[in-house]
Amino acid sequence: MDLGLKGKRALVCAASKGLGRGCAEALAAAGADLVINARGAEALLAAAEDIRQRYGVTVTPVAADIVSEDGRATVLEAAGPVDILVTNAGGPPPGLWSDWERADFIAALDANMLTPIALMKALLPGMIDRGWGRVVNITSQSVKAPIPVLGLSNSARAGLTGYVAGTARQVAPFGVTINNLLPGIHATDRADALDRDVAEADGISLEEARARRAATIPARRYGTPAEFGAACAFLCSTQAGFIVGQNILLDGGATNSVL
Ligand code: NAP
Repeated sequence: MDLGLKGKRALVCAASKGLGRGCAEALAAAGADLVINARGAEALLAAAEDIRQRYGVTVTPVAADIVSEDGRATVLEAAGPVDILVTNAGGPPPGLWSDWERADFIAALDANMLTPIALMKALLPGMIDRGWGRVVNITSQSVKAPIPVLGLSNSARAGLTGYVAGTARQVAPFGVTINNLLPGIHATDRADALDRDVAEADGISLEEARARRAATIPARRYGTPAEFGAACAFLCSTQAGFIVGQNILLDGGATNSVL
């Protein structure tokens, strides 16, 4: 299917690895030119070169912390006007409800709620003026079914979800859609880190921790960044213009609910 993205310009945040990288690659495969971001320059430059070579699109890497105000300003300046925004950043650490102080919540809100909101605030006006735009926020399955050890993530992503629910309906009249993609467990460095915590806590191997988690998923496996990216590219496509303000789970059936 031609997604109608040839020549569109996309900013994909936190995209040197994992789910952001999956989104960047799928958008590049559909012909979009990219601005990609991560903090570590080495992996980012390598990702940019790899994507350029494989898909023949323009890729501008911007090494910066998307959660900091300065870093965001640097990324936005390099990006200029974009048609597509994919927001993403690292997830907060796991823990117990009694561990977290105000500063921990502020950090989680900054990374997973206020950063995507600031990016939308900066880029939505241009999309509205041009009469076309797509925003996809990478959030988490924890929005639909909380993950107890990820209370910081549960809280921050719930806030972003509420903001998107209203804002998506305010920008839809101008040809701009905002939707959220909710990953369940996917095979990335983040999943490895969470599995390593479980392995350590339970005194089991990393492989055993992975196998136990996979057994809880109806699909009996982890998702891949490529599958995740394909869903993102479709939400950014011209064909997806009637999908507005949705929260779409990609979790292999892990969230046990009817709707
Ligand atoms: P990942 O494999 O650890 O990759 C994270 C990417 O983001 C890297 O490119 C990293 O590069 C970049 N990054 C992290 N913090 C950044 C920052 N402040 N500024 C700019 N770039 C930053 O993570 P992932 O698994 O793809 O997860 C992506 C998001 O989805 C996270 O918020 C995570 O909590 C959420 N999520 C993931 C899963 C899963 O199973 N993987 C499930 C639910 C939700 P640098 O370190 O060089 O900056």
